[in-house]
Amino acid sequence: MAEIYNTAAGARSFNVSIENKVELPEIDLFAQAGHDGFFTHRVENIRVTDGTLNITLQSLVDNATLAGFEIYSADGKLDTSVPEPQPNNCSGYVGITYDDGPSGNTNAFVNALKSANLVPVTFFVNGSNIGNNTAAIKAMLTVGAVESHGFNHNDMGSYSAAQVTDQLSRNNQAIQNAGAPKPTVFRPPYGTVNNTVRQAASALGLVTVTWDVDSQDWNGASTANIVAANGRLQNGQVILMHENQANSLSAIPQIAANLKSRGLCPGKLDPNTGRAVAP
Ligand code: ZN
Repeated sequence: MAEIYNTAAGARSFNVSIENKVELPEIDLFAQAGHDGFFTHRVENIRVTDGTLNITLQSLVDNATLAGFEIYSADGKLDTSVPEPQPNNCSGYVGITYDDGPSGNTNAFVNALKSANLVPVTFFVNGSNIGNNTAAIKAMLTVGAVESHGFNHNDMGSYSAAQVTDQLSRNNQAIQNAGAPKPTVFRPPYGTVNNTVRQAASALGLVTVTWDVDSQDWNGASTANIVAANGRLQNGQVILMHENQANSLSAIPQIAANLKSRGLCPGKLDPNTGRAVAP
């Protein structure tokens, strides 16, 4: 931190909290380090249990200011339980997505995705399926993003804006309550979308995304057919699969191998366009 504006003590004061505990109360940078001087502070033994490290600045006099921060693991070592990002020999990115979770298959999917290094993927989940299963959401977050598929799995084609908003805001809350970031992408159940749905989603900060390729896993497609459907993906495109389909689970190793052979890598979904982009 540095005081690069004020030239006297008492002109700026703020609190810095880590994980909702005040670690630096009423800090006055000029009093600590003078004008254009630097002030550093180290906080140890912070335990994050919800997947998000919260660093909060509370202004008391003038605006709070933080120039930068570094985060280290407790033992100074890299956490290798999370897969490394793909090497950058990617000629394009595709959106690997799984709907309708969490289910009893979540851990099997997460383990298979890690083993095949098919990461990151995007899970479109229903709050009605989360219930108390916050562990499933946390597991999903180790291999990608958790996004919205509506609270219930309802076709919203005839819904009013208020009804759509109710479904989506409840689902956002369920996802956040389970420890995931606020969703930015929404896939309507059954792909049913109209202007009412799109606008209500947009008002909640959600871009509406369907798919470019339907794997047909929900319709009994074989593992080989699911692999073939993934083989049709082009740069930026998104495929529909389901987290409660055993054949899509079986398809993971071959999907990963085929994408690699085509120079394509799994990407994240851009929060503005819904297209697959570099993670
Ligand atoms: Zn669905």
